[in-house]
Amino acid sequence: MDIQQQIKTLSEELRQHNYNYYVLDNPTISDYEFDIKLQQLQELEAKHPEFTEADSPTKRVGGEVTKNFETVVHEHRMYSLDNSYSKEDLLDWETRIKKLVDGDVQYTCELKYDGASISLTYENGSLLRAVTRGDGTQGDNVTANIKTIKSVPLKLKGNYPPKFAIRGEIVLPFEGFNKMNEERIEIGEEPYRNPRNTASGSLKLQDSSEVAKRPLECLLYSIILYDNFSPFGRNAEGKEGFTQFESLELARQMGFKVPGAAKLVNSIDEVLEFVDYWDVHRHDLPYETDGVVIKVNDLQQQEELGYTAKAPRWAIAYKFKAEQVSTRLNEITYQVGRTGAITPVANLEPVELAGTTVKRASLHNADQIEKLDIRVGDEVFVEKGGEIIPKIIAVDLTKRQMDSQPTQYITHCPECDTELVRQEGEAQHYCPNYNGCKPQIIGRIQHFISRKAMDIEGLGGETVALLVNEGLIYNYSDLYELTKEQVMPLERMAEKSAENLVNGIEASKQIPFERVLFALGIRYVGETVAKKLAIHYKNIDALSQATLLDLVNVDEIGIKIAESVVDFFLSEQNVHIIDRLKEFGVQLTLSEDVLANQTDKLKGQTFVVSGVFETVSRNELKKLIEDNGGKVSSSISSKTSYLVAGDKMGPSKREKAENLHIPIINEINFLQMLI
Ligand code: AMP
Ligand code: ZN
Repeated sequence: MDIQQQIKTLSEELRQHNYNYYVLDNPTISDYEFDIKLQQLQELEAKHPEFTEADSPTKRVGGEVTKNFETVVHEHRMYSLDNSYSKEDLLDWETRIKKLVDGDVQYTCELKYDGASISLTYENGSLLRAVTRGDGTQGDNVTANIKTIKSVPLKLKGNYPPKFAIRGEIVLPFEGFNKMNEERIEIGEEPYRNPRNTASGSLKLQDSSEVAKRPLECLLYSIILYDNFSPFGRNAEGKEGFTQFESLELARQMGFKVPGAAKLVNSIDEVLEFVDYWDVHRHDLPYETDGVVIKVNDLQQQEELGYTAKAPRWAIAYKFKAEQVSTRLNEITYQVGRTGAITPVANLEPVELAGTTVKRASLHNADQIEKLDIRVGDEVFVEKGGEIIPKIIAVDLTKRQMDSQPTQYITHCPECDTELVRQEGEAQHYCPNYNGCKPQIIGRIQHFISRKAMDIEGLGGETVALLVNEGLIYNYSDLYELTKEQVMPLERMAEKSAENLVNGIEASKQIPFERVLFALGIRYVGETVAKKLAIHYKNIDALSQATLLDLVNVDEIGIKIAESVVDFFLSEQNVHIIDRLKEFGVQLTLSEDVLANQTDKLKGQTFVVSGVFETVSRNELKKLIEDNGGKVSSSISSKTSYLVAGDKMGPSKREKAENLHIPIINEINFLQMLI
């Protein structure tokens, strides 16, 4: 098989697997097998960029950075929907419709997905652009970001109209949302509040490779044709086009994700059955829904009904009543996190809600308590979405006790009694007693040993707490002095487990520098940032000497991270701990392998290097490419895999690379290829 055919076949295959996995939720190969195939395609494309397809599955990883999103006027306006809340509202709506159209009316009932609306335009089966709703008349061009969402087809299947727009909702399923929050908490960031805002915020991220990491999904619900298209033949009256219900089927056939819940019905009574069913079963869905959308099925009738200034007359949303209960707030307690952040927690009189017993709810921060004027002893309304922790949404003021007093937020740490601080612009209070506050000490060591950090086998979070409480360790460097004899007397420790623990700690001395840096638990330094800093500074000493200005000059390091790094090394205690880690032989220098060793990581790839670089000289960079199996070429051609661009690169090189669709990367992106 010739190379071009090979690339084509592999692309097709990967596209089908993406579809099986992300649209049908029915994968037929393992993730591992998928990754291997994707890698094969990447390698082939690198060798033969001339055969790379514009909508290749390898383009899903993102990389394009948008500073300002271009404003695009919608060719067809994106309307809002009128709302209804009761059977009466729906019957009124039906009466209005029946006055305006003749004959029977059928309705398509759909779920109302709670996310960010999007309009996708396709031409000749390829995604042309993706635009947010904006104000309905014009929105932002977010195509680069949308392309990273795997359930958005880049190339359509089957029989599709030559040009059309399709509208849908970008949602963030609960599972992925909760996982993202766990990761944020891990680096000391505040968790996101809800999936909807996080989804719409994601669309406006400047770096599309960040969007690619988010588990977003795109659910479609409406097709807008530019020309006549009758895939299902003409209807009974011999008219062109298709009905709303048919359009959903058409969208599915083209490869879009359209949830199967939609139903075609003949009366408002049937609409209500649909509403009642989903009011209960929506809790089983993987993403948030806030109601049902009812649409007149026949497009001809839709046209006759037309639009008001704000919404179509042919559709209406029915909003679910959020499932709520009221219960008594018994107490507000305060938790101290690893970074010292204080989280107020509502302790509730246990109550049944959406199938579970709820005892606690998050109160987020002092502002939230003040805004809702939440007081101990109040009857509060509690709501549960798919988030892990239910939330208090209001106080039942009619039931408030006469003698109730406004909540006084704590001023001192509940664990160590240090006065709390709150930085300007931050919602959270913090306990500044970094070295003396137990939950902070324990949390930091737990983070240090965790899987993505030092990955210490034989040591778990509870044992860490035990070791701290028994006074055996005070910080993570103390771990390296622990002996089997010291650990054995601890609760639930036997000789074997004590041995495993000590061995696990010993083995962690081989963990590479970039992971150690992440393990240190410097606020805002997550895995990716740690990697960037490790590559840039190469060892802990250079990093500890870096000034704010140095740090913000590192690609993608913002002022918040820079300040946090500088603060970390200003602490004498931290410097002392790091000296100890060094003595014990923990890796605090970037491995030689990464920078100098001969690997074949870049085999088959050709690089053009241009401009002035910061961390390595141009010659070093070329040597790195060759040492790792790549080829260096002086001019850009269709054979170039990457253009590594430094400062002051000539505009003609850039232009040429852009014309040939050759990825332009910076030195950090390049060095990351070697890790
Ligand atoms: P609203 O924002 O309350 O005016 O409601 C209108 C929005 O609901 C639309 O802009 C869509 O983003 C969203 N929506 C969610 N699901 C659907 C659906 N099945 N059909 C139409 N609109 C939907
Ligand atoms: Zn404290």
